Amino acid sequence: MLCYYISDINPAGPANASVILGAKRMSTTQTMSTLDPLTHDHDQCIARALDEAERLCAQRGVRLTPLRRRVLEEIWQHHEVVKAYDLIHRLSTEDHTVKPPTVYRALEFLLEQGLIHRIESLNGYIGCSHPALAHQCQLLICRGCGQVEELDDPTLSAALQREAESHGFRVDQQIVEVRGLCPHCAPAGADVSAR
Ligand SMILES: [Zn+2]
Ligand SMILES: [Zn+2]
Ligand SMILES: [Zn+2]
Repeated sequence: MLCYYISDINPAGPANASVILGAKRMSTTQTMSTLDPLTHDHDQCIARALDEAERLCAQRGVRLTPLRRRVLEEIWQHHEVVKAYDLIHRLSTEDHTVKPPTVYRALEFLLEQGLIHRIESLNGYIGCSHPALAHQCQLLICRGCGQVEELDDPTLSAALQREAESHGFRVDQQIVEVRGLCPHCAPAGADVSAR
């Protein structure tokens, strides 16, 4: 199933300030799944995401408060969609319940800064793999394990942009959600062990 969610949200955050299509190729080598357990070091993913967030926020003069950082860290625990109420639950301790509006405000900030993406169909969030560059968002969502991988192919964005424009539609933001099975959840017969 291929779902296109074209949102009219146009956040003021610099990461989302404009639609840049085909202007920058973010990665030319990354054609295999980044979720391959043989080569994937998730601790590194988390550390990189947090470092990048610190750097970008400092550069933009916005504050990555301890709570905003904690929320981002929680979202990055796995490459899976995280729902707001899970975050509220995870961030709360026995003596201290984190208030939902606090978490929603933190999520709003992270979205505005392009540090996370919202997955409308699953009502949750995922960490962005390349927050430094304005980009459209294409997500491969596994219905087996729930893992999400972000693509960064500007030709796809450009094709969708052209198609939308030919319908007289002005695109503010593209979020493409693609559902299916990742290499590890694909049915037996598909050679996933050879890698
Ligand atoms: Zn990872
Ligand atoms: Zn992204
Ligand atoms: Zn899977």
